[in-house]
Amino acid sequence: MADEQSTPVAPAERQHNEPPIHDPELCGGCLMCWVYCPEDAIIVERGKIVGIDASACARCGQCVLVCQPTRHARHWPDS
Ligand code: SF4
Ligand code: SF4
Repeated sequence: MADEQSTPVAPAERQHNEPPIHDPELCGGCLMCWVYCPEDAIIVERGKIVGIDASACARCGQCVLVCQPTRHARHWPDS
């Protein structure tokens, strides 16, 4: 009996070309996005989000997901 060959799983396609946008007007400062960012791409200084390292951001969307239930301060450029 021939071995079944598994089909390689394609890596998830990047759905966004740019990192999520941070809206400081809506941000409540909970830092959940920073905690959950797997790439350490969210830049925090003195307890506040001051930017995002676009070269480090993998566009995974974790920061958008954890922010949405609270303030919607983080969203994709096209949404
Ligand atoms: S999760 Fe949202 S509200 Fe919390 S710090 Fe990040 S952007 Fe601000
Ligand atoms: S999209 Fe992912 S990698 Fe980029 S800042 Fe958000 S959590 Fe970090």
